[in-house]
Amino acid sequence: MSVPCTHLDTIRDVVPSSAGCEDCIKLGDTWVHLRMCEACGYVGCCDSSKNKHATKHYHATKHPIITSREPGEKWLYCYIDNVAWE
Ligand SMILES: [Zn+2]
Ligand SMILES: [Zn+2]
Ligand SMILES: [Zn+2]
Repeated sequence: MSVPCTHLDTIRDVVPSSAGCEDCIKLGDTWVHLRMCEACGYVGCCDSSKNKHATKHYHATKHPIITSREPGEKWLYCYIDNVAWE
C-alpha cells in the first residue's frame, strides 16, 4: 500500500492516554470527536470541537500523525502533509 506521507517513522506502538480528551476533562469541557496522537498516545478533541486539542497538541509537540478514536473509523491523518488515508 502506498501512503502519501513520509512521517510514518514517527508512529509508535502507543496506548491511549485517556478515555476522553484529557485536556477537556481537566477543563470540565466537552468535545465532539476524539483523535489520538500516533507518536505518544495523547488523546485530544477534533477540529469540530471548540478546544481543538488534537491540533494544539501537534503545534506544541510537532507529532504529525493522528488517528481517529471513533468506533469504526480507522484512518490516519498527517498534519505536515495535510493528507488522510486508511
Ligand atoms: Zn506526513
Ligand atoms: Zn479537548
Ligand atoms: Zn503526541
